[in-house]
Amino acid sequence: MTDTSHKLHALADIQQKILKAAKISGRKPSDISLIAISKTRSVSEIQSLLQLGHRVFGENRVQEAQQKWTELQAEYSGVQLHLVGQLQSNKADEAVALFDVIHSVDRPSLVKALSNAMKKQNRQIPCFIQVNIGEESQKGGCDIADLAGLIDISRSAGIEVKGLMCVPPLGANPVPYFALLAKFAKDHDLEGLSMGMSSDFEAAVKLGATHVRVGTALFGLRE
Ligand SMILES: *Cc1c(COP(=O)(O)O)cnc(C)c1O
Repeated sequence: MTDTSHKLHALADIQQKILKAAKISGRKPSDISLIAISKTRSVSEIQSLLQLGHRVFGENRVQEAQQKWTELQAEYSGVQLHLVGQLQSNKADEAVALFDVIHSVDRPSLVKALSNAMKKQNRQIPCFIQVNIGEESQKGGCDIADLAGLIDISRSAGIEVKGLMCVPPLGANPVPYFALLAKFAKDHDLEGLSMGMSSDFEAAVKLGATHVRVGTALFGLRE
């Protein structure tokens, strides 16, 4: 198969699974956004998805995203680019200029840097607060105990908090973690839930995900 026909099959298969999971749980498929995670993928791999009409993508590094997407955004209209990786405060200006949504807000210093960058550029970027849902020492995301405070700080800084994001512990059953993130979102009146990756996006949809982040299942294994 050519790269494009392979991707067409993968994309249709994932969309079908999202549809099914949405139906089973009584949700509208249009409330769920499939973010194609294109980190480590080449411009030409990304182009085959763009040529199929897909427009929602995610990257985890600012510099890599700049290199690939400055050109692609000029070539294809309607691209929506999400940052799903950890962000250093000194890259806030670049992130605000390039991305349309940021999923990895996890500390007050980053809120401040993003808020300043947005004011400077007169550009509002909706953000998700990433929660360290499995309370892992090495993992990104704010501590559960700090979540309420960080939501307040973000809102006071004028940032639109779209929802919560998590990456459950590797190898664990993700279901209880997705359910916990959904509960926190509900507690704080947040609609957005960025959760679910290649191996567990259907479970995430059933538990309320509004944004699933799928890389491998679309593009194949990363090197
Ligand atoms: C890489 C990555 C994904 C996609 O993971 P796959 O298992 O390849 O689908 C999703 N979210 C984040 C934060 C990632 O870094």
